[in-house]
Amino acid sequence: MENIYNKTFNELNEYFKQLGEKTYRTRQVFDWLYIKRIKDFQEMTNLKKEIIEKLKTDFFIDDIEIIKKESDVLVNKYLLKLKDANTIEAVLMQHDYGNSLCISSEVGCNMACSFCESGRIKKIRNVSSGEMVLQILKIEKDLNIRISHVVIMGIGEPFDNYQNICKFIETVNSPFGINLGSRHITVSTCGIVPKIYEFSNFPYQVNLAISLHAPNDTLRSKLMPINKAYNLKSLIEAVKKYIEKTNRRVTFEYIMLDKVNDTEECAIELANLLKGLNAYVNLIPYNETNNIGYKRSSKERILKFYDCLKKHNISVTIRKEFGSKISAACGQLKTIKEAS
Ligand code: SAH
Repeated sequence: MENIYNKTFNELNEYFKQLGEKTYRTRQVFDWLYIKRIKDFQEMTNLKKEIIEKLKTDFFIDDIEIIKKESDVLVNKYLLKLKDANTIEAVLMQHDYGNSLCISSEVGCNMACSFCESGRIKKIRNVSSGEMVLQILKIEKDLNIRISHVVIMGIGEPFDNYQNICKFIETVNSPFGINLGSRHITVSTCGIVPKIYEFSNFPYQVNLAISLHAPNDTLRSKLMPINKAYNLKSLIEAVKKYIEKTNRRVTFEYIMLDKVNDTEECAIELANLLKGLNAYVNLIPYNETNNIGYKRSSKERILKFYDCLKKHNISVTIRKEFGSKISAACGQLKTIKEAS
């Protein structure tokens, strides 16, 4: 039995075709699942009884459970329990341009970035595409809102779960379902180079963000082990090809770690690294966590870094902060191992 939310529109079409059914059935099912949002096949009243019975033998309609919710000004953090009792987190942020949901793509994470809380528990499993969709459905229902933007920046490395994030994007972008604009979806990766090449052929116009965090290999390898597998040269080359192919501007995320990567030399090195790329840098004030020794750069140092990049003609913004009081900010999300 499969979770029906894991089926993309095309896959479900294929399913109905093989049953010798008309493919408008797919539209009907998508309508029940994503517009009317029913939770029981029995309620799909415009389907023939035999089809309902067949669906019931092949699929189940999955759900996830909210086990904890913490709220702060304009932000809600959710601890969510999956069917197999694994937990993940999702964070809803209310921006002036809409509601943005940060979703998790894996239970735990193997990337082991030294500054990030999410990697402290190794990857237990992939989050399925259906479970990613459910994070949206569940939180829209809980807050009675529509989510207009999704960032795949919660727990996990999306390119370490490549197929499922592609299926997720395909599903939520479907005009017969949630109909979330692809330009309103952002995938953030620590830099798994082969997947960046692969993603440049992915036929949806989503946003790509790269967690860069250092302007040279020595420092980056210290902060992010993935850099030992794919160094900066190969990463920048892949991003260049991605931009050429997709014509889309790429974001480089750069967390500001006090006296680690926030010096003027680092800013100049970064400017040189990114010169000529259709990209911009998003400076992220580091969210300190209890267990990790790094400190957040002072406002002054962040602004100095910002000015230096500007002076070198690099487009740069400073990320608006959300949810640090409730540990809902970047790098503070973690899978919880429940005592059993
Ligand atoms: N694995 C993906 C997505 C998850 S992290 C990636 O690496 O991009 C989302 C962003 O938050 C990344 O840029 C990550 O490096 C950053 N981040 C991690 N820990 C942080 C912290 N404590 N404070 C601020 N940003 C952090």
